[in-house]
Amino acid sequence: MAQVTRSPKVYDVCIIGSGAAGGTAAKVLTEGGSNVVMLEAGPALHPETDYKEHVWPYQLPHRGAGVGGKAMADFSEFLAPNGSWDIEGEPYTNAPGSRFRWFRSRIVGGRTNHWGRIALRFAPVDFKSRSTDGMGDDWPITYEDVAPYYDKVESYIGVFGTAENVSSAPNGVFLPPPKPRCTETIIKAACDKIGVTCIPSRLAVITKPLNGRAACHYCGQCGRGCVSASNFSSSQVMLPAAEKTGKFTLVTNAMVREIVVGKDGKAEAVSYIDKPSRSEKKIYAKAFVVGASACESARLLLNSKSSQFPDGLANSSGVVGRYLTDSVGSSGGGFIPRLLKMPAHNHDGVGGMHMYVPWWKYDRKNEFLRGYHIELGGGRNMPGVGEFGPLCEAYEGYGAELKKKCREMYGTFIGFAGRGEMIANEHTYCEIDPNTVDEWGIPVLRFHFQWSDNEIKMAKDMQETFREIVEAAGGTYYDRTSPDGPNPYGIQDGGVIIHELGVVRMGNNPKTSALNGYCQTHDVKNLFVTDAASFVSNPDKNPTLTIMALSWRASEYLLDQAKKGNL
Ligand SMILES: Cc1cc2nc3c(=O)[nH]c(=O)nc-3n(C[C@H](O)[C@H](O)[C@H](O)COP(=O)(O)OP(=O)(O)OC[C@H]3O[C@@H](n4cnc5c(N)ncnc54)[C@H](O)[C@@H]3O)c2cc1C
Ligand code: SF4
Repeated sequence: MAQVTRSPKVYDVCIIGSGAAGGTAAKVLTEGGSNVVMLEAGPALHPETDYKEHVWPYQLPHRGAGVGGKAMADFSEFLAPNGSWDIEGEPYTNAPGSRFRWFRSRIVGGRTNHWGRIALRFAPVDFKSRSTDGMGDDWPITYEDVAPYYDKVESYIGVFGTAENVSSAPNGVFLPPPKPRCTETIIKAACDKIGVTCIPSRLAVITKPLNGRAACHYCGQCGRGCVSASNFSSSQVMLPAAEKTGKFTLVTNAMVREIVVGKDGKAEAVSYIDKPSRSEKKIYAKAFVVGASACESARLLLNSKSSQFPDGLANSSGVVGRYLTDSVGSSGGGFIPRLLKMPAHNHDGVGGMHMYVPWWKYDRKNEFLRGYHIELGGGRNMPGVGEFGPLCEAYEGYGAELKKKCREMYGTFIGFAGRGEMIANEHTYCEIDPNTVDEWGIPVLRFHFQWSDNEIKMAKDMQETFREIVEAAGGTYYDRTSPDGPNPYGIQDGGVIIHELGVVRMGNNPKTSALNGYCQTHDVKNLFVTDAASFVSNPDKNPTLTIMALSWRASEYLLDQAKKGNL
């Protein structure tokens, strides 16, 4: 039988999850004087041994593909550790007809060990969707409320970019960007020809030393982690700042099962599974910050039922789990014959694009509402696992001939990934599956996901734009998409873009939202949810910079409210 051990200590704040949201809260709260305990379901991270940025494929068994190619599905060897589409012992389910996929990381720093480091601000209009086109809802806060926190986050973590005055992509506090690669120069020229805006990208990679971190040395392998901490991860940038204060306690392998509420209706403790001993323990605090990642945060609230909160904690509105969205994603690629003549050379750079296409048709009448941006790929980086698979399928032969062909063709393709705004719909949400628990006995999430016509039209537009750019560059577009089938115009299944959010949304009205504009729950004053669960909409921009800005803002508010005795 599980043993319940009571810890006598009461912390000022207990944070659940150590990713972008939790890490930011830990830094701000400890630097503000709070005694903080953080519970993280995954193990500790050791960058020197866990990150593999400089390991060559030939140093790995099966060149990193795993037995029978098993590791290819979730990048395994070519990604920082413990991030996967499937976590052993921790399933989730899909309702009939739904194909939602959920990438989770179980390690200190969460998915900030794995992310693409694309760090884009939302634009003023992104906070005002309903006022703009009548769909969805406005946020209870404006761009002006968040802008000072974007400044703080960018200044602290380091984001490169350029001030371009594009209204859909606000300027930020930027480090100098790296130069475009040869393929990106070709794309930029093609975009200029057809009136598509193409500008230096904005990534959380430091191109100059910052706060004791070394500048990027352009190995191009960010997704595998960065031993020199030149790219951003919560584990290497936020948590060390918290540790430095001497006010931070990190408990790893601690899977929080429930937030426990006292007789006064305030949260008083969390109950968690200590994974190594498989025993249940409790930690007490005066305030709680949930940053377990959007859907995990919703799951935790829904599983925290009590007589006072029979439908789940902070869920008197019934919105917890609702308004789930992911980015609209559709990809494409083209062959550029003139790249065949490009002398073989190393495409040194950051582990990601140096140029991108922000949403550029904001002043036009499109067939769909909202917008998308385009992420660019291609060039001669170190090939990843399975990179030559399609080429080997397209050309007959093997041995020296096939290798020659691979060398000739490698780097002649350019790739595009559209990332667009999904508008929340009533058919898309998550809930507790009444029939399934994880290996710790905690009920799991069941997903319902459906794209609407607006998103399909957006994916179509993405495909048309990719083709136009490739053709303007003198290339051939490879159209592998069709308007029919389960993924019209190549629209990815829900969750695949890993920008799932909105399931504990903020708002002014406690009847239609769970949080106020400071990520504080309407129902429980000492409980905050500071990850992307709080978002009201899912603009085309990748969410993590905004998660950090909101978590920073919420943490400052928490400090202020605690000081005033309001929690
Ligand atoms: C491959 C990849 C590429 C991406 N690229 C980008 C990008 O370029 N730009 C961008 O903006 N975003 C990107 N993302 C998304 C980005 O990683 C997330 O938005 C961000 O990490 C979310 O931060 P978070 O703090 O909410 O959650 P996470 O970073 O996921 O951290 C949550 C942490 O909470 C822990 N946890 C969960 N449940 C519990 C529990 N019950 N008890 C205790 N601990 C718990 C988890 O183990 C985890 O460590 C990408 C993600 C992936 C995987
Ligand atoms: S490209 Fe730069 S930031 Fe990325 S892993 Fe290499 S050194 Fe680190």
